Amino acid sequence: MKNDCVFCAIAEGEIPSFKVYEDDLVLAYLDINPFSEGHTLVIPKEHFTGLLDTPSDVLKEIVVRVQKVAAHLKAALPCDGFNVLQNNGAAAGQTVPHIHFHIVPRRSSDGKIAFTSQEGNMDALAALAARIRM
Ligand code: AMP
Ligand code: ZN
Repeated sequence: MKNDCVFCAIAEGEIPSFKVYEDDLVLAYLDINPFSEGHTLVIPKEHFTGLLDTPSDVLKEIVVRVQKVAAHLKAALPCDGFNVLQNNGAAAGQTVPHIHFHIVPRRSSDGKIAFTSQEGNMDALAALAARIRM
């Protein structure tokens, strides 16, 4: 547990949560500022900051739980689809530095999420891919 981490405190039961699912590795609970009805967060009980410092074996196990909780929400709620969001760093909108996956149930009547796209320039995309290819 990391001091001053609100999600560690939730995992320890020191701060209450609206629990949806729990096992030895993860806890899933309702986001208190939901994007939609059923918006749920899945966290590992152990503290890691984000995608880059979470060990890959732990990450695999978390993602399997995200799948399990999402399937349950889809069956238990009015839910036509869902978004899985995982923010890393303040620039990406991460406000709680304990890795978490958002599962946001969506209904057919919902609008698009507010990322705006622009038509790509194929030459610029080819150059960028060449520059960053792994
Ligand atoms: P992010 O912006 O990806 O870091 O998301 C953090 C999320 O945690 C936000 O959507 C908050 O509404 C949510 N949140 C913060 N504190 C709590 C809490 N005590 N219980 C449930 N959700 C919380
Ligand atoms: Zn933590």
